[in-house]
Amino acid sequence: MSDENHDKELRVEKFIFDRPEAELEKIKGNPQKVLQLVEEYSRKENLMIIGPHKGQIVIDKIKERPRNILAELGCYIGYSAVLFAKELPDDGSKYYSFEVNPTFAKIAQRIIELAGLEKKVEIIVGKAGQTLIDFQAWLQKGHFRAIDFILIDHWKDLYVPDLRLLESLSLIAPGTTIAADNIYIPGAPEYKWYVEATPEERREYNSTHENVNGKSFTGRWNILYDSKAVTSTLGNGMRDDVEITETLQYLDA
Ligand code: SAM
Repeated sequence: MSDENHDKELRVEKFIFDRPEAELEKIKGNPQKVLQLVEEYSRKENLMIIGPHKGQIVIDKIKERPRNILAELGCYIGYSAVLFAKELPDDGSKYYSFEVNPTFAKIAQRIIELAGLEKKVEIIVGKAGQTLIDFQAWLQKGHFRAIDFILIDHWKDLYVPDLRLLESLSLIAPGTTIAADNIYIPGAPEYKWYVEATPEERREYNSTHENVNGKSFTGRWNILYDSKAVTSTLGNGMRDDVEITETLQYLDA
């Protein structure tokens, strides 16, 4: 999507922020109210947000165990960042949201601030295939840890290349949970195959498919995944799946 094609998102921004100061004050610091406004707008002009039904699958997964470093590929206007970051305790847990489109990122920043979650969410602007490399270098300056939970929700043709990048950078490691949206509609068959494949099948795939993010980011075939699609019925009665992948262990390479 080009940066010019953002009229709808600017209309959502107006819908949320062009209201009397007193009304905005009542919304400020209340993530639930902010989410409701975005959902209300989405019923008029279908926004590409994960929505409350699939969102609940992700929330349940996040809450299974403590998660300190969370990330998502595809911030859009900040809906999912608000939905998931509102679940984090005030213990320094952080939600890093990667977004390529600077206009979307700006709207997202306003929405996240309105929800009062700016201390928990940091938006990283740029193509995830590049910014993840800087992110890993930055994490390495501290006490490096892999990402505990990641939502993959950007363009479908980038799911596998960016996952292989995350594997290569050890940002995904045993203990990481990966959730990927839109597995049924519009579908991400190559991604589904990849996370459900055996390590041997992935070894073959990684050696025969060059990563668009760079030759050296082959991925790590010796990660053992446990992965399955979780089905959700959306508000409009349609079905979609979220693929939930647990990273179990590294096999001896
Ligand atoms: N997670 C969001 C939510 O539920 O509210 C929806 C994300 S929307 C489906 C996909 C977003 O991914 C778009 O905003 C798009 O600009 C962004 N995107 C696409 N390619 C990207 C890339 N390579 N790096 C970072 N963001 C990307």
